[in-house]
Amino acid sequence: MGPVDYAPGEAVGAPDHPHRGFETVTYMIEGAFEHEDSYGHRGSLRPGDVQWMTAGSGVIHSEMPAREIVEHGGRVHGFQIWVNLPRNLKMTRARYQEYTSDRLPVIVGDGRWIRIVAGEIEGKRSPIETTHPSTLLHLKLEPNAQTTLSIAPASNTVVHTIEGSGTIEGTALGKRDVALIEDAPTSLHLAAAAQGFEALVLAGTPLREPVARYGPFVMNTRAELEEAVRDLQAGKFGEIPREG
Ligand code: MN
Repeated sequence: MGPVDYAPGEAVGAPDHPHRGFETVTYMIEGAFEHEDSYGHRGSLRPGDVQWMTAGSGVIHSEMPAREIVEHGGRVHGFQIWVNLPRNLKMTRARYQEYTSDRLPVIVGDGRWIRIVAGEIEGKRSPIETTHPSTLLHLKLEPNAQTTLSIAPASNTVVHTIEGSGTIEGTALGKRDVALIEDAPTSLHLAAAAQGFEALVLAGTPLREPVARYGPFVMNTRAELEEAVRDLQAGKFGEIPREG
């Protein structure tokens, strides 16, 4: 999501739509999003907040820029990461984990600022519960600073530059670059170049199960996708309760 600067009346989001079989993780850098869903759950996300939504067997939700941004314009910048669920949890009950920025641990020092959205770094652990070992960090390194991050063995890692430039395991990353490291070392080395480095760092152990995806559904087989479409058409995902 962005970064994008909206003029008044211009901001758009994703009105009512379904998900099944995975988790959506929304993390805001700038701006604000409002969400509501078929379980009657609603809230807003502001910079540094996370919503870790387990769609499980199915949810219908809407994700819209905050009203003040729609009305007056403003900048929206955030990430939504789709985290797959293992086969035995694809049809689990929907679950929400939401934490405001002040409830997520931060590591500060040695030219580093690291918000631990998920996982554990240097003994500080995020309250987010994940179904398999997963790490999600918002990291800022001062010019020429470096750090080593511990992740689970045999993880795949993605680093997405937000600002500046740096290296991950010796691979250079410029502005808005993305690097994927499969079967990454358990000690990841990141270093900032002369302008500093701000990035989102993701790591997770691969499920090694078949993936069948159709739009907002992520299942294991085509038959399960067809079932999801039938269930949606039959109204089994529910709807968002609204007055009037
Ligand atoms: Mn969605």
